[in-house]
Amino acid sequence: MDGTFDVVIVGAGINGAAVCHALTSAGYRVLLVDQGDFGGGTSQASTMLIWGGLLYLKNLELATVLALTRDRDRLVAEHAASVQARPLLYVPSGGPPRVVVESALAAYWVMGAGKRARPRRLDGYDEQTHLVAAGAAYAIEEAALVTSDARFVLEWALAAERLGADIRNHVRVDAIDSAGPKAGWRLRLCDGLTGVTSEVRARMVVNAAGCSTDAVNDRAGITSPWRHLFSRGVSLAFPRPAWHTRHLVLDSADGDVMTLAPWGPVSLWGSTDTVHAELAVAQRPAEVDVTRLLTELNRHLRAPLARRDVISLRTGVRPVAVRRDATAPNASQALTRHHRLHLDGSEPWVSVYGGKLSGCLGLAAEVRDLVAQRVSPRHRAPLPRAAGHDVAPRVTTTFPTLAEPVVSAAWAAAHEHCASLDDYLRRRTNIAQWVPRGGFGADGEHADALERIALEIHDGDTGLAERDLARYWHQVSVTEDLLTHTHLPDAPRASAQWRRL
Ligand SMILES: Cc1cc2nc3c(=O)[nH]c(=O)nc-3n(C[C@H](O)[C@H](O)[C@H](O)COP(=O)(O)OP(=O)(O)OC[C@H]3O[C@@H](n4cnc5c(N)ncnc54)[C@H](O)[C@@H]3O)c2cc1C
Repeated sequence: MDGTFDVVIVGAGINGAAVCHALTSAGYRVLLVDQGDFGGGTSQASTMLIWGGLLYLKNLELATVLALTRDRDRLVAEHAASVQARPLLYVPSGGPPRVVVESALAAYWVMGAGKRARPRRLDGYDEQTHLVAAGAAYAIEEAALVTSDARFVLEWALAAERLGADIRNHVRVDAIDSAGPKAGWRLRLCDGLTGVTSEVRARMVVNAAGCSTDAVNDRAGITSPWRHLFSRGVSLAFPRPAWHTRHLVLDSADGDVMTLAPWGPVSLWGSTDTVHAELAVAQRPAEVDVTRLLTELNRHLRAPLARRDVISLRTGVRPVAVRRDATAPNASQALTRHHRLHLDGSEPWVSVYGGKLSGCLGLAAEVRDLVAQRVSPRHRAPLPRAAGHDVAPRVTTTFPTLAEPVVSAAWAAAHEHCASLDDYLRRRTNIAQWVPRGGFGADGEHADALERIALEIHDGDTGLAERDLARYWHQVSVTEDLLTHTHLPDAPRASAQWRRL
């Protein structure tokens, strides 16, 4: 790949993808690159709520709540295929006093300009019989992603591509140099799949590398008044009981809350929220996370969950924006979740700190306005539609044990930049999260199906398919080690083909 772009965006999480769409819509020629897959970083590990930030009222973050509320309502109104209003039930159990809860809910509703259903106190509700000592609850209308967070990101990136953006996954930005005064930047890119390196030029760079924003800035010699702290968030998924049909928000022992979200055939419970100084440490889920999640959940459920019931874990690291000189607190809840943007004083460079799926519209518009201070779009409207990027009718298929159809691997490879089993099972579909052992099945019974999928993705190349399968198994076994250590059954029994690997 080579060429000159108005803007190169480093990182295709929700921030990078939404910014890419906003800039392309404004007529900029944009390249969006991610060293992994679209949405393959923190953005694939969220709770998938699109909400106005009710919890941030606790820290009186009124501006953040107002901005998130506005974005939530716009997403529901303008992106109905991806974001839908959902009822959410807060079941207090030793949290703040009733008067505080009801005042906060009333204020929250007013801050949302009364556009959502008014919060209601419920003395009786269906879920009550399945929860321990559950008294009255509060029904609140929020919103949630329909399919998944990773797909939400992909949809923004693909929509930008249809407007003419160049979007590349599995392409890492290795080096960044100034191209000279007022000449922008030279970026060396490395294709992670082929190892091929190339160079592109950019009039401006948007650094949306999430947890790696500071590292990318260092590489380019950019300093900013902000930096990231890292908060690990782990959630677990287990088979969804029939009674679990709406989001439940339950108090946790540390005075915070956790969410039990219905998600297809699973219930998603989480998340933890622990600050770590080192990114590498924050990225590794630990035994203590699984124990904590199970303990918290079993305080609430009448039918307790056992470790062997866990289908999958989700681990993500929240990049939380703080002032560069701030000391790290122990509790991440004390930190503001407002995003911070920094336009460098002299270089054409914007750094993005923090940011949420819920606030992607506002953040993208702010970044677009900062870019416009330095670089004008070469076109007044989006570039003409790139040939071949019309939306082709989607081809779906089935996967064992899943009731809902999934996009076919061949179609995802041809139309959605799907390049590996992990891309397909984790982000083009939810198989990796909904079927035990990353889709292999509790006893490895779906290994044949995964092998067929790998062959489809790699267009029948058996060598590539087998390497991909082996790589994916290694990746799954890292999580399985953790779960096996927590007394899940042994590694899957391999199918005949699988044993050959
Ligand atoms: C447990 C948990 C629950 C959450 N729940 C919610 C929720 O319910 N609602 C909500 O709105 N938010 C939620 N969030 C917050 C939200 O998920 C994150 O704030 C958001 O996804 C961060 O997006 P991002 O684009 O900044 O980062 P990322 O998604 O991490 O994207 C950054 C990307 O940059 C890429 N990158 C890094 N370095 C390079 C390089 N050198 N070259 C190329 N690419 C590079 C990475 O591969 C990565 O894909 C949650 C977060 C967590 C952890």
